[in-house]
Amino acid sequence: MYHHSASVSYPAAGSAAGVLEPAAADSPDALVFQRCAWCGTAMFHRLLCPVCQGSELRTERSEGVGTVRHSSVVHRNTPAARNVSLVEMAEGFVVRGRVMGPPIGIHSGDRVCLSTAKDPVRGEPVFQLVDEPYRAWA
Ligand SMILES: [Zn+2]
Repeated sequence: MYHHSASVSYPAAGSAAGVLEPAAADSPDALVFQRCAWCGTAMFHRLLCPVCQGSELRTERSEGVGTVRHSSVVHRNTPAARNVSLVEMAEGFVVRGRVMGPPIGIHSGDRVCLSTAKDPVRGEPVFQLVDEPYRAWA
């Protein structure tokens, strides 16, 4: 009687945001950044390209993997020490956020991946350390 076709509202090709998570483009797990249409520089939360001052920026979605560039521990205004890190993403832009785990356990050069794009309290990205069981290559 009822022939359900296989076309279950899955986003067609072209919507890169829906490839892994069919949920929504507004997913809080997506970290989006801007890329300059003129020189290709990737940046985060800018209105103008820091390199060429171009204003034609395209929004892209980050893969969510990066490397810690700087990490510090903040004790101010918080009951527990909080880690604040600058993370350089694979796409080339740097975001300020928090890396989960013991604050003193975060070091420059550590690889991290995005856990939440927007912390419900501070609205900043939260990362987690990428476990590297195979350090043999280092
Ligand atoms: Zn530019």
